[in-house]
Amino acid sequence: MKLEKYSIGIGDRFGFEGAAQLRAIQKAAADGVRIAPVWNKSNREHVIIGTVPEDVRIAAEAAVRACSWTDSYYLDADHINLSTVDAFLKPCNFFTIDVADYIGKPAGQQATASFLDAMARYKGKVQIPGIEAPLQMTDRLLAESTEKYLYAVLEAGRIYRRIAEKKKGDNFITEVSVDEANDPQTPAELFFILAAIAREEIPIQTIAPKFTGSFLKGIDYIGDKQQFAREFQDDLAVIDFAVKNFGLPRDLKLSIHSGSDKFSLYPMVHQAIKRTDAGLHLKTAGTTWLEEVIGLAASGGTGLQVAKQIYVDSFARFDELCKPYLTVVNIDMRELPQPREVTDWSSEQFVRALRHDQLCKEFNPHFRQLIHVGYKVAAEMGDRFTTMLRECREAIEKNVSENIYERHILPLFMGKKSAGASRS
Ligand SMILES: [Zn+2]
Repeated sequence: MKLEKYSIGIGDRFGFEGAAQLRAIQKAAADGVRIAPVWNKSNREHVIIGTVPEDVRIAAEAAVRACSWTDSYYLDADHINLSTVDAFLKPCNFFTIDVADYIGKPAGQQATASFLDAMARYKGKVQIPGIEAPLQMTDRLLAESTEKYLYAVLEAGRIYRRIAEKKKGDNFITEVSVDEANDPQTPAELFFILAAIAREEIPIQTIAPKFTGSFLKGIDYIGDKQQFAREFQDDLAVIDFAVKNFGLPRDLKLSIHSGSDKFSLYPMVHQAIKRTDAGLHLKTAGTTWLEEVIGLAASGGTGLQVAKQIYVDSFARFDELCKPYLTVVNIDMRELPQPREVTDWSSEQFVRALRHDQLCKEFNPHFRQLIHVGYKVAAEMGDRFTTMLRECREAIEKNVSENIYERHILPLFMGKKSAGASRS
């Protein structure tokens, strides 16, 4: 199974928005840009909402039928490891093997010696086409990279082989992710990680490193954009080199676990992939859920009341809701509006505070991040929430589709400025 050159990971926490998401991708196809949809949902999201991986397949298949989608689509077992993979085996055909937790564990003497031995030929200066200065592969760098990453890759091999054994055949896509590591990986470290992956014979099609800077959920990039741009280009060059020299799959590409909405990086990422003719997988987080809340609020009446209730309850349960996301949200409580204030808001006020429009003075990234992690509250509302999801269909679907097409697909895959998704 071979993943298309461009693909987009579209989380859909409650499983209602597959068709609206797919329509955004169909619109890109009509513009001549083929992007494969990948429905990703992590074990963490399943546990918090109370769904199982099979539910994602059911929702995806319904969306595919509703939109008469005839091209490929994928179901991503997002951030799985040996302890969580089994439930995803049957419904999924894309596996994001997350080995960040295994970084730094000792790989054992024999495995270490054998890897160091195989890498000895790269010691000294390695000239990688596309990177100006040669990579300086010192003994120390090689030893440190091995110490840090070899065990993690061996673990990825164990997980890959478990999936391959159960899936029987070449009917799935493999990604290895280390994006939830504590430190970003340098291009030289990526070099050794890919070398180790090739030695484990994991046929990865996408690799998700941790990039420099902050990739918080649902808000823009925080960090040094120029440094990111350099690193991104160097990573592309390292991947190209690894494909040619380590025998990894020809279409291996970078996977950006963006946490969604890294709008300020999109122009440079677009330029870099165009210049090098590289592919790209963009994984977005569950911000479709935020568009659902926007659609509820925009609908007024009970929809707005439910949206407000989600905020009021999330505010009261701040610590509990943020806990699973501590490393990927940064909410300043002092910047959060008081619940009694929000209770008096109009539809427009609520929408303006939540929608990711950085030009809007009322946009509040703290409010947005809290709602982002507040989906547990909505899950607990049960019927009251899902009834309103059905009743406010039109406003929700409009926001879901526009968000994906205008804010993500246009700038990232097509190099165009967002036409300004509706500010109604
Ligand atoms: Zn990730």
